[in-house]
Amino acid sequence: MTARLAADAAGIAEAAAFLRAGERVAFPTETVYGLGGDATNASAVAAIFAAKGRPRFNPLIAHYASAEAAFADVIATPLAKSLAAAFWPGPLTLVLPRRAQSPVADLVSAGLPTLALRVPAHPLAQALLAAVARPIAAPSANRSGRISPTSAAHVLAELGGRIAAVIDGGDCRVGVESTVLDLTGTLTGARPRLLRPGGISLEALAPLTGALDLAPLAGDQQPLSPGMLRSHYAPTLPLRLHARDVAGDEALLAFGPPLPGAALVFQLSAAGNTEEAASRLYAGLRALDAEGGRLGLSGIAAMAIPETGLGRAVNDRLARAAVRDGGVDVD
Ligand code: AMP
Ligand code: MG
Repeated sequence: MTARLAADAAGIAEAAAFLRAGERVAFPTETVYGLGGDATNASAVAAIFAAKGRPRFNPLIAHYASAEAAFADVIATPLAKSLAAAFWPGPLTLVLPRRAQSPVADLVSAGLPTLALRVPAHPLAQALLAAVARPIAAPSANRSGRISPTSAAHVLAELGGRIAAVIDGGDCRVGVESTVLDLTGTLTGARPRLLRPGGISLEALAPLTGALDLAPLAGDQQPLSPGMLRSHYAPTLPLRLHARDVAGDEALLAFGPPLPGAALVFQLSAAGNTEEAASRLYAGLRALDAEGGRLGLSGIAAMAIPETGLGRAVNDRLARAAVRDGGVDVD
């Protein structure tokens, strides 16, 4: 049984007690719901991988109450500190070299010499981190390869019975995962590398970071950021991108004035706003997948979305959701 905890002091206290006892608790962040466990407890971290069915080579983000607490576990650069000052608490994750004395379990890093850090902005996440007084390792609270949850109901649909509790904080404001920036190369003069577009746009980062390295990872070595593997965030119905027309037996994921003729429509943003589209993306995919499946539709057609603002993150998730190669499921 998974307890549904209220978004109040008693709920936070109960969630913190579960986490300190090595249990798993899902909690809202401003991006998506996280599947939290005590990052300093190796068996709690192992159980996060097990609950999701997540491959052990895909590292987790460690969440902290403050930049000061986060940077105690890594070698922080001046750029890391200025990014933290500008965007934390918020939807930005920084990857930096681990310090040997960090109490975070090695499994969080999946054997890499680096650690991914974030200070989330959601008041419930902040209250929970303060109450636990330890870093919380938390991937998105979905089964591996499935759509990330942006409500407590989504979490229960994915992981009900597999985790101790979920704190019900309503819908997530940003709706897509954090932007992940790898700063390790900057210690030796390389550019910061974008590992995942997300809730902070590249336009917002640019004044601090300058040009980013956007190159995809080469080769077949252990992925530095396995979230970059292609098959990800997948609905059950086939997804078709950049649709210019729609068939009568298709569902439509609309952005702006909808294409005519769809059997079913979910509007991401009537006004064509990329932030609104990001906040509604996962709920929209879930709704079209469920209702389209009931109606026996052949697939989902998604209208084009610009690569500006949060559009880059939305397009990244849609591209992964459209991959149906039966490849490695991550996350
Ligand atoms: P999730 O928390 O499920 O949204 O996924 C976390 C993302 O951060 C995944 O894409 C991971 O591969 C990536 N990540 C976490 N830790 C590291 C790290 N140490 N180095 C590179 N990428 C990381
Ligand atoms: Mg995830």
